[in-house]
Amino acid sequence: MRLILLGPPGAGKGTQAQRLVAKYGIVQLSTGDMLRAAVKAGTDIGRQAQEIMARGALVPDDVVVSIVEQRIEQPDARKGFILDGFPRTVPQAAALDRMLAKHGIALDAVIELRVDEDALIKRIESRIAEMKERGEQLRADDSPEVLHRRLAAYREQTAPLVAYYREKGALRTVDGMAPISAVEAAIEKALAAKPASAKAGSAAARSPKPAVAKPARVAALGKKSSTGRGKPHPRDAAHKAAASKPKGGTTTRP
Ligand code: ADP
Repeated sequence: MRLILLGPPGAGKGTQAQRLVAKYGIVQLSTGDMLRAAVKAGTDIGRQAQEIMARGALVPDDVVVSIVEQRIEQPDARKGFILDGFPRTVPQAAALDRMLAKHGIALDAVIELRVDEDALIKRIESRIAEMKERGEQLRADDSPEVLHRRLAAYREQTAPLVAYYREKGALRTVDGMAPISAVEAAIEKALAAKPASAKAGSAAARSPKPAVAKPARVAALGKKSSTGRGKPHPRDAAHKAAASKPKGGTTTRP
């Protein structure tokens, strides 16, 4: 099983990734965790990434692409993996396509956790308060200003990946605002859904240069989301609200 979890900071990618790891016996590859480990270890990459991460911007594509490539070549990733926090830009997605093709492997699905941004900010803030109460350490990018920058980076650089993977027929959208166990069930349902056969004339079938090794498999996944079908997309309104209402308080790792 090879999956991508897509969604803004605080959407619950990490929580769901842990559950998928337990369920499928695959590894979670979080670029955020890998970069934080590099910062802690004081490697060259860590030194490059430290300041960029602290201000909520994205680390250069070539840096993250190379750490992901090294990681998916490790023996424990052979059975499968969940990419959490990668790809985050269209060039990273294109690099991932090349990487997978080179290794002769294909993605099974891209799960988008769709969330309302305003509710997301509240969710993150209450998590921070809880962490502080428990005396847990906050991350360097845990502040309201940086959270807004991370959300802006998501909107500008990562959100286009929703269309990118929809075009490939790989996208499954799940309502990330539901309770954790309901999100988990929705992901399971999305993954279990019988792959519809690739439609002639679909974007995936038309693509002259499929970017994954086994395009038919990805194309066969179908384009429909398991939840939220036909619902208005909350993103635009939520983004506006988030942009016009900076919140106080401290923020933490979503
Ligand atoms: P979040 O909690 O915002 O989802 P992560 O733990 O995934 O954050 O990542 C934290 C920071 O690490 C990001 O704000 C960014 O600076 C850097 N980072 C992580 N993954 C990537 C990536 N794929 N491309 C560029 N930068 C990344």
